[in-house]
Amino acid sequence: MYPYTHVVVGATIGATLFQQWRLWLLAALGALLPDLGMLSHQIYLKSNGLGWYLWPSSPIWIYTDITHSLVVWCVLLVASARLPKVNASNIAFAIGATSHAVIDVLTHGRNPSKMMTGYLWPFDYNLAVQLGIWQYHPGRFTILAKPPELVMLLTCCGLLALIIRHKLKAQA
Ligand SMILES: [Zn+2]
Repeated sequence: MYPYTHVVVGATIGATLFQQWRLWLLAALGALLPDLGMLSHQIYLKSNGLGWYLWPSSPIWIYTDITHSLVVWCVLLVASARLPKVNASNIAFAIGATSHAVIDVLTHGRNPSKMMTGYLWPFDYNLAVQLGIWQYHPGRFTILAKPPELVMLLTCCGLLALIIRHKLKAQA
């Protein structure tokens, strides 16, 4: 999925779980974080007229592995929830990032290449190969969502609009 879809899904999950706008934003930022390495790399390549290439040992893969790890986000979620004073900001951010990893596990499955993260860093096990529903390739250097992503995006936009409308009515 494209980063903008992850952001909208993260914001929608944040809006269903939390009352404060700030926490919606943190959930959206958490959902964006895992793809920031790839996104910045693609922007760099595009702005320099270069084709797609990434060294297999590039630090971006390490960043991507860590930030897409369900292990990392589950540990941070549990740790945040167990702190003496529960920090809703940490939880909102981690929930957004977890939503990103869960969506990617389901939509980047059946990937034969080892270029994709396994989603269980630091363990070397590709969860997407087991749980992936389909292999979603949005295509490089395009920003148009394919129909399944568009459905998810529009559904979340609709839900978010309803939640905002309800919130504004309650405040009036
Ligand atoms: Zn991702």
